[in-house]
Amino acid sequence: MNFSFKPKLKSVLELKTYISEYPGFPAPGIIFRDINPLLRDYYFDTLYFMKESISEEKWQDIDFIAGIESRGFILASGLAALTNKGFVPIRKLGKLPGKVVSEKYNLEYGRDQLEMSPGKGNVLLVDDVLATGGTLAAGCSLCEQTNHNIVDILVLINLTRLNSFSWNNKSPISLINYDY
Ligand code: AMP
Repeated sequence: MNFSFKPKLKSVLELKTYISEYPGFPAPGIIFRDINPLLRDYYFDTLYFMKESISEEKWQDIDFIAGIESRGFILASGLAALTNKGFVPIRKLGKLPGKVVSEKYNLEYGRDQLEMSPGKGNVLLVDDVLATGGTLAAGCSLCEQTNHNIVDILVLINLTRLNSFSWNNKSPISLINYDY
């Protein structure tokens, strides 16, 4: 087997070609952005370009990658392995044992609750898609309440028409943007 740890794609712009769209899923009015084709064919490339979107200087400050359940886990844990950082889960209600901090939030389609265990350190917060920003806002709030310092916020896809998200003047970094 050939383990050449180099991206197959030439540019981050090519990632967008491998996102499928499903209008009307899971509810009318939603255009669902499916990252599965990208993960299937270009998982390493996706992680590589996510890593490249953060400066070396910033990486030195980051202790952990915090990922939001569930698709955020796929990207955050891969990125943690690639960069030799720790992984911290932000989970759906009732999944984490012991003492947890909870935060309710609104979704583009529905309402949910996230939880995080107390800790400390500098985190990069990662999710797959930024839509209305409710999930990321809950994630940021949980990081702060659990004593984690947010160095940067990184998403694969930003649906820019649906949000003007920032947290404490920190704008999210995104690799792929859709304005519709
Ligand atoms: P939001 O809280 O509205 O920013 O929604 C973000 C979360 O919901 C992410 O974790 C995504 O996995 C999921 N999500 C919301 N809208 C979409 C969409 N149009 N396509 C794919 N995933 C979405």
